Amino acid sequence: MRKTAALLLLGLPLAFGRPAAAQAPVQYSVAFPNAVHHEARVTVTFTDVPAGPLQVRMARSSPGRYALHEFAKNVYDVQATDSKGKTLSVDKPDPYGWNVTGHDGTVRFTYTLFGDRTDGTYAGIDSRHAHLNMPATLAFARDLEQRPAEVKFELPQGWTVASQLRPDAVKGTYFAPHMQYLMDSPTSLGPQQVRSWQEQGKTIEMQVLHDGTAAELDAFANQTKKVVKEAAAVFGGLPDYDFGRYTFVANYLPQTSGDGMEHRNSTSLTSNRPLRGSGALDNLGTVSHEFFHSWNVERIRPKDLEPFDFERANMSSGLWFAEGFTQYYGELLLRRAGIYTDEQYCQEALSGLVGAMLLSPGAKRYSPVYMSQQAPFVDAAAAIDPNNRSNTYLSYYYIGGANALALDLELRQRYKTDLDTYMRTLWQQQGQFQSNYAPEKPYTLQDLQRVLGQVAKDTAFAGQFFRQHIYGHELPKYEELLAPAGMLVRPARAGQASLAARLQFNADSSATLGTTSVGSPLYTAGLDREDVLLKFEGQKPTNAKEMQKRLAAHKPGDVVQVEVRARDGIRTVPVTLVEDPALEVVTYEQAKKPLTKAQKKFREAWLGSKAK
Ligand SMILES: [Zn+2]
Repeated sequence: MRKTAALLLLGLPLAFGRPAAAQAPVQYSVAFPNAVHHEARVTVTFTDVPAGPLQVRMARSSPGRYALHEFAKNVYDVQATDSKGKTLSVDKPDPYGWNVTGHDGTVRFTYTLFGDRTDGTYAGIDSRHAHLNMPATLAFARDLEQRPAEVKFELPQGWTVASQLRPDAVKGTYFAPHMQYLMDSPTSLGPQQVRSWQEQGKTIEMQVLHDGTAAELDAFANQTKKVVKEAAAVFGGLPDYDFGRYTFVANYLPQTSGDGMEHRNSTSLTSNRPLRGSGALDNLGTVSHEFFHSWNVERIRPKDLEPFDFERANMSSGLWFAEGFTQYYGELLLRRAGIYTDEQYCQEALSGLVGAMLLSPGAKRYSPVYMSQQAPFVDAAAAIDPNNRSNTYLSYYYIGGANALALDLELRQRYKTDLDTYMRTLWQQQGQFQSNYAPEKPYTLQDLQRVLGQVAKDTAFAGQFFRQHIYGHELPKYEELLAPAGMLVRPARAGQASLAARLQFNADSSATLGTTSVGSPLYTAGLDREDVLLKFEGQKPTNAKEMQKRLAAHKPGDVVQVEVRARDGIRTVPVTLVEDPALEVVTYEQAKKPLTKAQKKFREAWLGSKAK
């Protein structure tokens, strides 16, 4: 559990009545005697253990990832001994942990960990590297969460350590002030390539495992420097990183799964795409998003995520802001850093946000707050039963990002301020206060609304915005909002007839339907998931290209006969084609419309560099 400075001042005792620093640290040793088979051997030594059973647990959840992951499932060969090496009794009270009894104040708890998934959630171990997300790797003991931790990595030759943990050169260990910080500190072990620089008196470093050249990494680090400057410009400076350093813990090896995960003083960046060509741009997008998180979600933190509970799923009503606004800025910073052109920004960022918002059936039914609350079921959650999310859900990344875009444009047009000012004011009022390596003033949704009222100097507007767009699900008017920037929303494939459906083409020239969207031609015709399209106007659908050809012979509004094998048998149904619903955002220049001076100025103020 985290404690705030306010509680300390009240004189409330910490666990066992001693300040954390004076408590016996929990000591971890992580070795790799069988890395090629994805195993690590972990030893945890607890000393000064109070009498009674020691309740050792593996986490069930991981900060920044909102589904349950049951990390105990990859732990085996569990043993416990006391200070004299005597074997202790280990019971299994539940699926997630072990109770150790009969100890003499010391418990040495050892286990084998299997891990072969390199991403922001799990542990990936092989002969080349180990990428360790700590909740997936390190066991902890209940009631000892306030104790500091020291981790010793027994490194294979040539491997070095990339982590936000504080190194102790004398002991050869890595330090965390408490269990919350330890669990927040993913660590990559391997032959790192390092790029490090000073920005505003703070150390920014990239620790990278990749198969590319030094020149590719140099170019990537140079782009990252620009992104770092643009992010800092939004908030008026960098945060005070806890140990004076921010680390990009990056793994771009081929065996890696794509992910990005934010932490207080670092981020875990994982991708199998190399640092060249479109891979570099893709990876830079993750850099930008995750670095913005070192303010938004790590320090400007939703109250309902504090303190993070490692023994259950954590739900927040604010992920539309924590993730969605970060999504918006991750892309915006790439434009401001000159990595995107205006046209690329429209294509790569705005078209996706606006299209998702205006086309998703879910966004017409439920609010950003509701979408945020679904995270434990969608954020890398695994289940084998089908769901109806394509009709009831839009990711809080998109619904939040699309609302950030609308709010930024509205603040600029009507209130002579902008979203940067809003973010900076939130930073000043809620984010910059940290104590004991944790946020001191995490926010509620009421705080977000209050600060918006201050920045806009219009509390009625803030109330209405939250009522309509955050607690409600009204869609922003993007055409009006984008026009002052000389941009417009238009059909991406105007006039093209479409079934607006996801089809999976089969070897026998049929096509299986995915879940059909409310209001789409096939949904309206009474068809749903797993129904099989046998014939389209008397002919087999064959493949996507053939299907496209046949649709091209039609106009939106045409009625076609479709033969399907549904759950109640084979039948032929009439289906009314629609115009391909895909939307795109383009500049006036792309649309061959004249751009006024005022539009040019507005766009420059929005998308131009803010870095000094
Ligand atoms: Zn994020």
